[in-house]
Amino acid sequence: MELLYKSTRNDHIKLTASQAILKGLSDDGGLFVPEYIPRMDLHPSELVNKSYQEIAYQVLKLFLTDFTEEELRDCIRRAYDGKFDTPEIAPIAKVGNTYFLELFHGPTIAFKDMALSILPHLMTTAARKNGVDHEIVILTATSGDTGKAALAGFAGVPGTRIAVFYPKDGVSPIQEKQMVTQKGDNTFVAGIHGNFDDAQTGVKEVFGDREMAKEMDRAGFQFSSANSINIGRLVPQIAYYVYAYVKLLENEELLPEEELNVTVPTGNFGNILAAYYAREMGLPIGKLVCASNENKVLYDFFETGTYDRNREFVLTSSPSMDILISSNLERLVYKIAGEDAGRCRDFMGQLAEGGSYTVTPQMREQLAIFAGKFATEEETAAKIRQVYEDTGYVLDTHTAVAAAAADKYRAERKDKRKMLVASTASPFKFTRSVMEAIGAGTEGKDDFALADELSQMSGLSIPRAVEEIRTAPVVHKTTCEPGEMKQAIRKFLGIR
Ligand SMILES: *Cc1c(COP(=O)(O)O)cnc(C)c1O
Repeated sequence: MELLYKSTRNDHIKLTASQAILKGLSDDGGLFVPEYIPRMDLHPSELVNKSYQEIAYQVLKLFLTDFTEEELRDCIRRAYDGKFDTPEIAPIAKVGNTYFLELFHGPTIAFKDMALSILPHLMTTAARKNGVDHEIVILTATSGDTGKAALAGFAGVPGTRIAVFYPKDGVSPIQEKQMVTQKGDNTFVAGIHGNFDDAQTGVKEVFGDREMAKEMDRAGFQFSSANSINIGRLVPQIAYYVYAYVKLLENEELLPEEELNVTVPTGNFGNILAAYYAREMGLPIGKLVCASNENKVLYDFFETGTYDRNREFVLTSSPSMDILISSNLERLVYKIAGEDAGRCRDFMGQLAEGGSYTVTPQMREQLAIFAGKFATEEETAAKIRQVYEDTGYVLDTHTAVAAAAADKYRAERKDKRKMLVASTASPFKFTRSVMEAIGAGTEGKDDFALADELSQMSGLSIPRAVEEIRTAPVVHKTTCEPGEMKQAIRKFLGIR
């Protein structure tokens, strides 16, 4: 049976999975959600000893029903290959009483690789299925991490081009170097003289420009987006929760049917929503602990039922979680609003206008499987230090927020179920903060020197992603004003 996708803000829209992937966001501003969450057709115990790729297929086939088996297996094979530095793709480390699901073994050493390595293949397959013969041009504004992961995913993929705009003075030196050294004839990177909002606004303007769309059409191009609300990013993330459960069964860490709690360091609510979908599919997941840093808008939401973005934005050592509007939460709000698009639209309207909304008591009851917890900067650093001193294992700052939140949850609720923590970045990605937390001297040392030291202390070899940019030549030198972005795109595509 075909699973169709509807919009969280309009009951009348129904698209196939491939159409939803191509479109990204619904025209009414809503997010695409499946008409129902499919149940797993195999029990986790039947997946024991299967590879990551096989388990990913078992999940993807249930959600992306208009793709053929051959198409899905082909996308999976191209995505989860030697780009990952371990054949397991997402290995689990047991550290003390916690399992860390390491989602950082891909080309940019952070969890966005799990989805962005497959999205380009899903997208080009979707284009072919829908008779789109234009080249797909991915436009991305980035504050650092997503840009590089999207570049790495789309580089060299036939039928696609990717243009990334970042704030010239608003990303870390390592992040900038990662982007401007990106190889691939189909890639374009430009630094904007402005902040992230300027870059974001510029990209949105390009997407909304009908004249430019016509011009692109005539030249054989079509814009698309790779941001985290695309279901082509969400669905592949469900796979690693199933994989983790199966591996814990395989290693006899879990009994069949035993419930596993999951803690996820959360920003845009995409990763934890994937865990929620896995639970809805029938995977024995108990509690979902949503971990926030000091930007604890989600913690407050789960505590009070009010989502309120009207607060100060805090810059923390876990920058990928510094977010006040968690876009993917809309999918959960839609669900607990009884899949009523009108009500969901109402809440999102309140958020856009006044910056807040409050869900009803009936809706709150359905949130009981979630627990919000947060960690301060001090608690995060203390967790990195404590785990390192006790075990020698090194957490990155985002994972440490989650580990601290998981501890708080267990201490407060006396919940004895086993705990899986999604480990979203390598400590080598946020080396300076990690080394400061451990108490190593960092002053006067550049990030590469710190990586060398971390490598010695931890016994881990420096990831390829860091080694590569140490010596890689800069190939992208474009800078421009926000107002010149359209012209830069035309030049990249060879139009006029
Ligand atoms: C993006 C990101 C997160 C947040 O994930 P969401 O799906 O946006 O909630 C957490 N940690 C790292 C390292 C990230 O890059």
